[in-house]
Amino acid sequence: MSERRQPVLGILGGGQLARMLALAAAPLGVNTLVVDSAADACAGQVAPLVVADWADYAALEAFAARVDVVTFDFENVPAATAHWLAERVAVFPAPQALAVAQDRLAEKTLFRECGLSTPDFRTVDTREELEQALAAIGVPAILKTRRLGYDGKGQFRLMQLADAEAAWAALGAQACRHGLILEAFVPFERELSVIAVRGRDGEFHTWPLTRNWHVDGVLAMSLAPAPDIGQLQQRATALARTLAERLDYIGVFALELFVKDGELLGNEMAPRVHNSGHWTIEGAHTSQFENHVRAVLGLPLGETGARGLSAMFNWIGGLPAAAPVLRAVDAHWHDYGKQSRPGRKVGHATICAPDAGQLAARLGGIAAALGRAAQAAPVLQALDRP
Ligand code: AMP
Repeated sequence: MSERRQPVLGILGGGQLARMLALAAAPLGVNTLVVDSAADACAGQVAPLVVADWADYAALEAFAARVDVVTFDFENVPAATAHWLAERVAVFPAPQALAVAQDRLAEKTLFRECGLSTPDFRTVDTREELEQALAAIGVPAILKTRRLGYDGKGQFRLMQLADAEAAWAALGAQACRHGLILEAFVPFERELSVIAVRGRDGEFHTWPLTRNWHVDGVLAMSLAPAPDIGQLQQRATALARTLAERLDYIGVFALELFVKDGELLGNEMAPRVHNSGHWTIEGAHTSQFENHVRAVLGLPLGETGARGLSAMFNWIGGLPAAAPVLRAVDAHWHDYGKQSRPGRKVGHATICAPDAGQLAARLGGIAAALGRAAQAAPVLQALDRP
């Protein structure tokens, strides 16, 4: 009998996304190997970790020799590293798809080509272009770095024209290196995201739309399936499919959307599993993490329907007490094993229930016990139980 060899999935980046990918890979018989420049990267608590930076080609050569497929927990892996690896081992999503999502200009241009409107925007490379862009777009507006921004980082909100000076002081240095864009501020009615997965054979699924609430540009709460969305699910699914096919995308990705006047506007695309899809671990028939592993390894994809409703709390900066979540029915605690630090995502909790009434009761009880009533309030309001 020949010896059984388990496939090995290499993951670039060792944060909580890599950690949850590794946890989802294990029951499929898939081993993982993670690369991160930090020796204490939290995925290293559940999977073997190679400590190396993105330009350490000797370490990356050894890594490539040990894995069957490479994927990402971090979209800002340098394009040069992704291309170099793709010459040695299968890399999904492909570096070309990653490159589009790394640049807000390329991303917005693609959205528009695929029929997804975006907030009005202008590219800004000089102080003078900032004035021209402000004259065209007006205020309020948001100046964003084209590259390397996430979770509201690399952004400056301009409430009045006189804020241009402060915005340039904050981000002007980035303009020479990577370019900026000035975006109209959208007074949106809601923020939604659609998580989608495309397999190596083109099989495509989306999970039910998620409604999201951000605080200071960072996700605070999610609710799925998003209530009262009418035709937006079909529209979001069709757009996500068009984008995925245009990019020949393989794996899971997220599209972050604004709803304005009942229509979808594209904010950004994340070429990886996404924080607004964490609810799928317990709240869907197949989680985003499991389907990403399946997709990049060429396995059949799992069904993406929801089991009832789910609400997710993000724990930012530090963890609250776990006990009220651990004691509650169908409530799920996720501690990423990270040190507390202001603004850092250190864990989440997902509360599931068969219907809106029971979800509101469970969520309200847990929020009160944790002293997090304000964080949960918009979700309770969306569930129509303020
Ligand atoms: P981003 O890093 O671009 O996803 O931005 C983080 C969050 O900031 C978004 O989820 C929104 O809540 C907010 N935001 C970003 N861009 C805009 C915009 N053009 N108009 C209104 N809010 C925005």
